[in-house]
Amino acid sequence: MADYAALASEWEGILERRPALREPLGFWTAIIGGWMRWKSTELGSLERTDDACRDSWERGVPLLAACPPALEREPIEELLGPVIERLSADGADAAGALQQLAVAWDDGLVGPDVLLPQSGRDAAAVLQERFGLATRLGAFLAPAALRPALETWFERTRALPDGIWSRGACPWCGGFAFYGDLIEDGRRRLSCLLCGGAWLAPRLRCPFCETWDSKDLVRLLAEGADEGYFIEACRACLGYVKGVDRRQRWNAGSPLTEDWASPHLDLHASREGYWRPTPCLVHLAPSGDDVR
Ligand SMILES: [Zn+2]
Ligand SMILES: [Zn+2]
Repeated sequence: MADYAALASEWEGILERRPALREPLGFWTAIIGGWMRWKSTELGSLERTDDACRDSWERGVPLLAACPPALEREPIEELLGPVIERLSADGADAAGALQQLAVAWDDGLVGPDVLLPQSGRDAAAVLQERFGLATRLGAFLAPAALRPALETWFERTRALPDGIWSRGACPWCGGFAFYGDLIEDGRRRLSCLLCGGAWLAPRLRCPFCETWDSKDLVRLLAEGADEGYFIEACRACLGYVKGVDRRQRWNAGSPLTEDWASPHLDLHASREGYWRPTPCLVHLAPSGDDVR
Protein backbone atom coordinates (compact mmCIF):
# COMPACT_ATOMS: atom_id res chain seq x y z
CA MET A 1 0.00 0.00 0.00
CA ALA A 2 1.11 3.55 -0.69
CA ASP A 3 2.97 5.45 2.00
CA TYR A 4 0.40 8.02 3.10
CA ALA A 5 2.42 8.90 6.20
CA ALA A 6 5.20 10.14 3.88
CA LEU A 7 2.63 12.07 1.84
CA ALA A 8 1.20 13.61 5.02
CA SER A 9 4.63 14.72 6.15
CA GLU A 10 5.44 16.24 2.74
CA TRP A 11 2.11 18.07 2.90
CA GLU A 12 2.76 19.27 6.43
CA GLY A 13 6.11 20.65 5.23
CA ILE A 14 4.30 22.74 2.61
CA LEU A 15 1.81 24.08 5.15
CA GLU A 16 4.63 25.00 7.49
CA ARG A 17 6.41 26.96 4.79
CA ARG A 18 3.19 28.74 3.78
CA PRO A 19 1.15 29.25 6.94
CA ALA A 20 -1.32 31.57 5.19
CA LEU A 21 -2.45 28.60 3.10
CA ARG A 22 -3.01 26.25 6.03
CA GLU A 23 -6.67 27.08 6.40
CA PRO A 24 -7.75 27.12 2.73
CA LEU A 25 -5.77 23.96 2.06
CA GLY A 26 -7.32 22.22 5.08
CA PHE A 27 -9.79 20.56 2.72
CA TRP A 28 -6.96 18.43 1.36
CA THR A 29 -5.35 17.87 4.76
CA ALA A 30 -8.55 16.12 5.84
CA ILE A 31 -8.50 13.91 2.74
CA ILE A 32 -4.91 12.81 3.36
CA GLY A 33 -5.90 12.08 6.97
CA GLY A 34 -8.66 9.77 5.73
CA TRP A 35 -6.26 7.94 3.42
CA MET A 36 -3.85 7.38 6.31
CA ARG A 37 -6.57 5.75 8.38
CA TRP A 38 -7.88 3.63 5.51
CA LYS A 39 -7.97 -0.12 5.98
CA SER A 40 -9.36 -2.84 3.81
CA THR A 41 -9.32 -6.38 5.06
CA GLU A 42 -10.29 -8.05 1.81
CA LEU A 43 -8.87 -6.13 -1.10
CA GLY A 44 -5.57 -7.50 -2.41
CA SER A 45 -3.50 -6.41 -5.38
CA LEU A 46 -4.24 -7.32 -8.95
CA GLU A 47 -2.09 -10.22 -10.14
CA ARG A 48 -1.66 -9.96 -13.86
CA THR A 49 1.29 -10.98 -15.97
CA ASP A 50 3.33 -8.40 -17.86
CA ASP A 51 2.11 -9.92 -21.11
CA ALA A 52 -1.53 -9.68 -20.13
CA CYS A 53 -1.07 -6.04 -19.06
CA ARG A 54 0.74 -5.30 -22.30
CA ASP A 55 -2.10 -6.84 -24.26
CA SER A 56 -4.66 -4.46 -22.64
CA TRP A 57 -2.45 -1.42 -23.11
CA GLU A 58 -1.69 -2.21 -26.73
CA ARG A 59 -5.41 -2.24 -27.37
CA GLY A 60 -5.76 1.11 -25.59
CA VAL A 61 -7.75 -0.43 -22.74
CA PRO A 62 -6.99 0.67 -19.15
CA LEU A 63 -6.40 -2.23 -16.76
CA LEU A 64 -9.43 -1.31 -14.67
CA ALA A 65 -11.77 -2.02 -17.58
CA ALA A 66 -10.21 -5.46 -18.04
CA CYS A 67 -9.88 -6.30 -14.33
CA PRO A 68 -12.14 -4.27 -12.02
CA PRO A 69 -11.50 -4.66 -8.28
CA ALA A 70 -14.19 -5.98 -5.92
CA LEU A 71 -14.43 -2.93 -3.67
CA GLU A 72 -15.75 -3.27 -0.13
CA ARG A 73 -18.42 -0.79 0.80
CA GLU A 74 -17.44 0.01 4.36
CA PRO A 75 -13.88 1.29 3.98
CA ILE A 76 -14.95 3.34 0.94
CA GLU A 77 -17.90 4.74 2.87
CA GLU A 78 -15.56 5.88 5.65
CA LEU A 79 -13.80 8.10 3.14
CA LEU A 80 -16.87 9.14 1.17
CA GLY A 81 -19.00 10.28 4.12
CA PRO A 82 -16.83 13.19 5.29
CA VAL A 83 -16.27 14.56 1.79
CA ILE A 84 -20.01 14.41 1.03
CA GLU A 85 -20.54 16.37 4.19
CA ARG A 86 -18.01 19.04 3.26
CA LEU A 87 -19.26 19.41 -0.31
CA SER A 88 -22.84 19.78 0.95
CA ALA A 89 -21.82 23.19 2.26
CA ASP A 90 -21.57 24.38 -1.36
CA GLY A 91 -25.27 25.27 -1.45
CA ALA A 92 -28.81 23.90 -1.57
CA ASP A 93 -28.45 22.26 -5.00
CA ALA A 94 -25.32 20.41 -4.00
CA ALA A 95 -26.77 19.41 -0.64
CA GLY A 96 -29.91 18.02 -2.31
CA ALA A 97 -27.99 16.02 -4.90
CA LEU A 98 -25.55 14.64 -2.33
CA GLN A 99 -28.45 13.72 -0.07
CA GLN A 100 -29.96 11.67 -2.90
CA LEU A 101 -26.63 9.96 -3.42
CA ALA A 102 -26.34 9.20 0.30
CA VAL A 103 -29.85 7.72 0.40
CA ALA A 104 -29.18 5.59 -2.70
CA TRP A 105 -25.96 4.40 -1.08
CA ASP A 106 -27.67 3.53 2.20
CA ASP A 107 -30.41 1.68 0.34
CA GLY A 108 -27.79 -0.36 -1.51
CA LEU A 109 -28.87 1.04 -4.90
CA VAL A 110 -25.35 2.27 -5.57
CA GLY A 111 -22.00 1.19 -4.19
CA PRO A 112 -18.31 1.89 -4.73
CA ASP A 113 -18.54 0.93 -8.41
CA VAL A 114 -20.50 4.10 -9.15
CA LEU A 115 -17.26 6.00 -8.48
CA LEU A 116 -15.14 4.07 -11.00
CA PRO A 117 -14.51 5.39 -14.51
CA GLN A 118 -16.64 3.36 -16.89
CA SER A 119 -16.55 3.18 -20.67
CA GLY A 120 -14.68 6.43 -21.00
CA ARG A 121 -16.92 8.33 -18.55
CA ASP A 122 -15.77 9.40 -15.14
CA ALA A 123 -17.81 9.25 -11.96
CA ALA A 124 -18.54 12.99 -12.06
CA ALA A 125 -20.46 12.57 -15.34
CA VAL A 126 -22.39 9.59 -14.00
CA LEU A 127 -23.25 11.36 -10.72
CA GLN A 128 -24.45 14.40 -12.57
CA GLU A 129 -26.70 12.34 -14.77
CA ARG A 130 -28.06 10.24 -11.94
CA PHE A 131 -28.31 12.71 -9.06
CA GLY A 132 -27.93 16.13 -10.68
CA LEU A 133 -24.66 16.76 -8.85
CA ALA A 134 -22.52 19.42 -10.56
CA THR A 135 -19.45 17.80 -12.13
CA ARG A 136 -17.14 20.38 -10.53
CA LEU A 137 -18.20 18.88 -7.17
CA GLY A 138 -18.71 15.27 -8.24
CA ALA A 139 -15.07 15.17 -9.37
CA PHE A 140 -13.94 15.27 -5.73
CA LEU A 141 -15.72 12.11 -4.65
CA ALA A 142 -13.94 9.32 -6.51
CA PRO A 143 -10.33 10.33 -5.73
CA ALA A 144 -11.15 11.04 -2.08
CA ALA A 145 -12.94 7.72 -1.60
CA LEU A 146 -11.09 5.35 -3.92
CA ARG A 147 -7.45 6.38 -4.06
CA PRO A 148 -6.14 3.98 -1.37
CA ALA A 149 -8.15 1.07 -2.78
CA LEU A 150 -7.01 1.66 -6.35
CA GLU A 151 -3.44 2.32 -5.35
CA THR A 152 -3.45 -1.04 -3.57
CA TRP A 153 -5.16 -2.76 -6.48
CA PHE A 154 -2.61 -1.62 -9.05
CA GLU A 155 0.59 -1.73 -7.02
CA ARG A 156 1.93 -4.87 -8.73
CA THR A 157 1.12 -3.74 -12.26
CA ARG A 158 2.93 -0.42 -12.45
CA ALA A 159 5.59 -1.51 -14.95
CA LEU A 160 4.31 0.22 -18.07
CA PRO A 161 6.60 -0.46 -21.06
CA ASP A 162 7.86 2.70 -22.79
CA GLY A 163 5.92 3.89 -25.81
CA ILE A 164 3.06 1.42 -25.49
CA TRP A 165 0.40 3.81 -24.20
CA SER A 166 -0.35 6.98 -26.11
CA ARG A 167 -3.77 7.92 -24.75
CA GLY A 168 -4.34 10.92 -22.46
CA ALA A 169 -6.29 8.87 -19.89
CA CYS A 170 -4.64 6.83 -17.16
CA PRO A 171 -3.44 3.40 -18.39
CA TRP A 172 -4.44 1.82 -15.08
CA CYS A 173 -7.81 3.26 -14.10
CA GLY A 174 -8.82 5.27 -17.18
CA GLY A 175 -9.12 8.47 -15.09
CA PHE A 176 -8.18 11.94 -16.29
CA ALA A 177 -4.62 13.23 -15.98
CA PHE A 178 -4.46 15.78 -13.16
CA TYR A 179 -0.84 16.94 -13.40
CA GLY A 180 1.72 17.02 -16.18
CA ASP A 181 5.31 17.68 -15.22
CA LEU A 182 8.49 17.71 -17.25
CA ILE A 183 10.95 15.26 -15.73
CA GLU A 184 14.73 15.55 -15.56
CA ASP A 185 15.30 14.39 -19.15
CA GLY A 186 12.69 16.82 -20.52
CA ARG A 187 10.00 14.23 -21.17
CA ARG A 188 6.43 14.86 -20.12
CA ARG A 189 4.90 12.77 -17.38
CA LEU A 190 1.18 12.74 -16.65
CA SER A 191 -0.21 11.68 -13.29
CA CYS A 192 -3.56 10.33 -12.15
CA LEU A 193 -5.13 11.51 -8.92
CA LEU A 194 -7.61 8.65 -8.78
CA CYS A 195 -5.17 5.73 -8.66
CA GLY A 196 -1.77 7.36 -8.21
CA GLY A 197 -0.43 6.18 -11.59
CA ALA A 198 2.11 8.15 -13.64
CA TRP A 199 3.08 7.63 -17.28
CA LEU A 200 5.10 9.27 -20.02
CA ALA A 201 3.09 11.05 -22.69
CA PRO A 202 3.75 13.10 -25.83
CA ARG A 203 4.47 16.74 -25.05
CA LEU A 204 2.40 18.22 -27.81
CA ARG A 205 -0.86 16.50 -27.31
CA CYS A 206 -3.89 17.45 -25.24
CA PRO A 207 -4.56 14.69 -22.68
CA PHE A 208 -8.30 15.38 -22.79
CA CYS A 209 -9.41 15.73 -26.41
CA GLU A 210 -6.16 14.18 -27.66
CA THR A 211 -5.65 16.78 -30.37
CA TRP A 212 -2.17 16.87 -31.90
CA ASP A 213 -2.75 20.26 -33.43
CA SER A 214 0.01 22.37 -31.91
CA LYS A 215 -1.73 25.66 -32.63
CA ASP A 216 -4.47 24.60 -30.25
CA LEU A 217 -2.04 24.14 -27.38
CA VAL A 218 -0.97 27.03 -25.20
CA ARG A 219 1.45 27.23 -22.35
CA LEU A 220 0.85 29.82 -19.64
CA LEU A 221 4.06 30.30 -17.72
CA ALA A 222 4.25 31.36 -14.12
CA GLU A 223 6.73 34.06 -13.19
CA GLY A 224 8.65 35.31 -10.19
CA ALA A 225 8.37 33.02 -7.20
CA ASP A 226 6.50 30.51 -9.37
CA GLU A 227 9.12 30.27 -12.10
CA GLY A 228 9.34 26.74 -13.45
CA TYR A 229 5.62 26.14 -12.98
CA PHE A 230 3.23 26.26 -15.91
CA ILE A 231 -0.29 25.63 -17.13
CA GLU A 232 -0.74 23.69 -20.36
CA ALA A 233 -4.09 24.47 -21.91
CA CYS A 234 -5.96 23.43 -25.04
CA ARG A 235 -7.91 25.86 -27.17
CA ALA A 236 -9.83 23.02 -28.80
CA CYS A 237 -11.46 21.60 -25.64
CA LEU A 238 -10.44 24.33 -23.14
CA GLY A 239 -8.98 21.73 -20.77
CA TYR A 240 -5.76 22.34 -18.88
CA VAL A 241 -3.26 20.63 -16.64
CA LYS A 242 -0.72 22.31 -14.42
CA GLY A 243 2.84 21.15 -14.25
CA VAL A 244 6.37 21.87 -13.16
CA ASP A 245 9.62 21.71 -15.09
CA ARG A 246 11.85 19.65 -12.81
CA ARG A 247 14.97 20.78 -14.64
CA GLN A 248 14.26 24.24 -13.22
CA ARG A 249 12.74 23.04 -9.95
CA TRP A 250 14.81 20.07 -8.87
CA ASN A 251 13.36 20.21 -5.37
CA ALA A 252 9.69 20.28 -6.40
CA GLY A 253 7.40 17.94 -4.47
CA SER A 254 5.24 15.10 -5.71
CA PRO A 255 2.64 15.89 -8.40
CA LEU A 256 -0.12 15.61 -5.82
CA THR A 257 1.29 18.11 -3.33
CA GLU A 258 2.43 20.47 -6.10
CA ASP A 259 -1.07 20.44 -7.57
CA TRP A 260 -2.94 20.85 -4.31
CA ALA A 261 -0.68 23.60 -3.03
CA SER A 262 -1.11 25.86 -6.07
CA PRO A 263 -4.79 26.90 -6.22
CA HIS A 264 -3.71 30.37 -7.40
CA LEU A 265 -2.62 28.82 -10.71
CA ASP A 266 -6.04 27.19 -11.08
CA LEU A 267 -7.63 30.53 -10.42
CA HIS A 268 -5.50 32.03 -13.17
CA ALA A 269 -6.42 29.25 -15.62
CA SER A 270 -10.11 29.57 -14.85
CA ARG A 271 -9.99 33.35 -15.37
CA GLU A 272 -8.42 32.66 -18.76
CA GLY A 273 -11.46 30.54 -19.56
CA TYR A 274 -9.98 27.06 -19.12
CA TRP A 275 -11.30 24.14 -17.05
CA ARG A 276 -10.03 20.92 -15.56
CA PRO A 277 -12.04 17.73 -15.12
CA THR A 278 -10.15 16.87 -11.92
CA PRO A 279 -10.91 18.47 -8.55
CA CYS A 280 -9.36 21.73 -7.41
CA LEU A 281 -10.32 24.22 -4.73
CA VAL A 282 -11.37 26.83 -7.29
CA HIS A 283 -14.31 24.56 -8.09
CA LEU A 284 -15.57 25.14 -4.56
CA ALA A 285 -15.73 28.88 -5.18
CA PRO A 286 -18.08 29.05 -8.17
CA SER A 287 -18.81 32.74 -7.80
CA GLY A 288 -15.27 33.46 -8.97
CA ASP A 289 -14.19 34.57 -5.51
CA ASP A 290 -10.56 34.14 -4.66
CA VAL A 291 -9.73 30.84 -3.07
CA ARG A 292 -7.70 32.49 -0.38
ZN1 LIG B 1 -5.40 6.15 -12.69
ZN1 LIG C 1 -8.01 19.44 -25.72
